[in-house]
Amino acid sequence: MKLCRFDDHRYGVVKDDQVYDVTALVEPMLPHPLKVKGDPLLANLSTIVAKLKGADLGKPAKSVKAAKFLSPVAFPTKIVNAPVNYDLHIAEAKADPGISFNRPSLSIGVAGLFLKATSALVGPGEGVAARFPDRRTDHEIELGIIIGKTASDVPEDKALEYVAGYAIALDMTVRGTEDRSFRKSIDSYAVLGPWMVTADEMPNPLDESFSLSVNGTQRQSSSTKHMIYDIPTLIGWASRWYTLYPGDIIMSGTPEGVGPVGDGDVMLCKFDHIGEMEVKVRAAPVMSHGSAAREKSKG
Ligand code: MN
Repeated sequence: MKLCRFDDHRYGVVKDDQVYDVTALVEPMLPHPLKVKGDPLLANLSTIVAKLKGADLGKPAKSVKAAKFLSPVAFPTKIVNAPVNYDLHIAEAKADPGISFNRPSLSIGVAGLFLKATSALVGPGEGVAARFPDRRTDHEIELGIIIGKTASDVPEDKALEYVAGYAIALDMTVRGTEDRSFRKSIDSYAVLGPWMVTADEMPNPLDESFSLSVNGTQRQSSSTKHMIYDIPTLIGWASRWYTLYPGDIIMSGTPEGVGPVGDGDVMLCKFDHIGEMEVKVRAAPVMSHGSAAREKSKG
């Protein structure tokens, strides 16, 4: 099942390029946010999906093209990210100081995972507001893994049982010398969408092909089979450092082909068994206070 949030916080089921509004069915089944850890929709997902599968969805509310998609997860407790998880991306970063800033390249096992702020999370319909136009904002297309069950110290051979579903993720990034979490947590720099495909509809998440183009020109194209740490490894590892709660998102790393985007660019992301996601980039309002030179000198 393809589950989405769209327009003014409506819940939807996507079928045959149409969006069915299931808000009236879903909302009464959402637990109170103070009574669960994590995202209320994901915390009760199996019950909600069972109800939706047996329900008459009526007529579609609108076409996929006409819907403004929000992040399928509203309230993750964290967005866990894998850095340097594809060999060819590591190679391009080493070759391009505009990506690496000549930092030594640590392998993922040495670098560890990092977190993006949940306030950075948007859906594709909200777009990306590129900040600091004098610096490079890059796209990084990644498989977004959405956790469905509370997970702590999960063995790798059971890890996929903790996945509720998958979505397309963009780990938008300002390149530079600062810590990853600082450069990758800007408002709108975590895109998730356009919907969540439940895990039963993803035939093999360990070999899922995907691509990203900007203004019609392809830049990234790979498969999740090229991950250095695969999905079970990422889930198990993350769950030994912090408990994963329903709705937590793991952005699993980007392949080669990252590059800059700016005002007016349109990114088109595709995953074979998720679908397509279009994301527009605009210029964020200029940050007029402070000065980069002064902020750096305070270090
Ligand atoms: Mn990334």
